[in-house]
Amino acid sequence: MTFYFLDHSGFAVDTGRRWLIFDYFTDKPKGKGLSEGVINPLELGGKPVVVFSSHSHHDHFNPIIFSWRGKVSEIQYVLSDDISTSEEALFVSPGQRYERNGVTIETLNSTDEGVAFLVRTDGFTIYHAGDLNHWHWEGEPHWYNLQMAERYHTEMEKLRGKVIDLAFVPVDPRLGEAFWFGLAGLMETAEVGCAVPMHFWGDFSVMDRLKECGPLSPCLDRVVYLTKRGQQGTCGKWKASDD
Ligand SMILES: [Zn+2]
Repeated sequence: MTFYFLDHSGFAVDTGRRWLIFDYFTDKPKGKGLSEGVINPLELGGKPVVVFSSHSHHDHFNPIIFSWRGKVSEIQYVLSDDISTSEEALFVSPGQRYERNGVTIETLNSTDEGVAFLVRTDGFTIYHAGDLNHWHWEGEPHWYNLQMAERYHTEMEKLRGKVIDLAFVPVDPRLGEAFWFGLAGLMETAEVGCAVPMHFWGDFSVMDRLKECGPLSPCLDRVVYLTKRGQQGTCGKWKASDD
């Protein structure tokens, strides 16, 4: 499986048989392609395309995705139901399971808006967190951060023991010392083969901070460090799974 870092929380995953595109938002520079972190539908070839948007916030959803219709052989849209559009799509809500054309989608409840996606297709399991994260803000009161921790861990428990080949997880530098909490919560509960940091607002220095992060050290060999937009990565099957 190959993936491209598009920008922020945007990724294009090539399973070999289809494209999965998550939270596409930056559509510039025009006329570029995957190696610059931009979707050019002509590059997607004849494979079916499934486009996911985890919620309506501008850094996760850009209606430009609908302009790809007609430029690829087959395309479907999986959108969190807080996204308001008259375009044809599968609108999903938290805590549900859907099956469409060889793709199984489970949704978790975000601790911000919308959903996180657990997608099974072509023999792989892929997790995209959207804005489901352990948002521990230093400026918030203690009770708020406790409640946030509980909400995040409640969602992570739903992934306990699940084998995830490829996971996209927020590591937001605005959270200061707590930037790694969300990633740790996922790695502690699920069996993740390949974890890719996201939602870091172009601040690639967060990768160096991850490498130095003691509590994460047992799982850092499974983290893929990003160094530029358009970066390509590969990820195999992690372990056999029952589900
Ligand atoms: Zn966001």
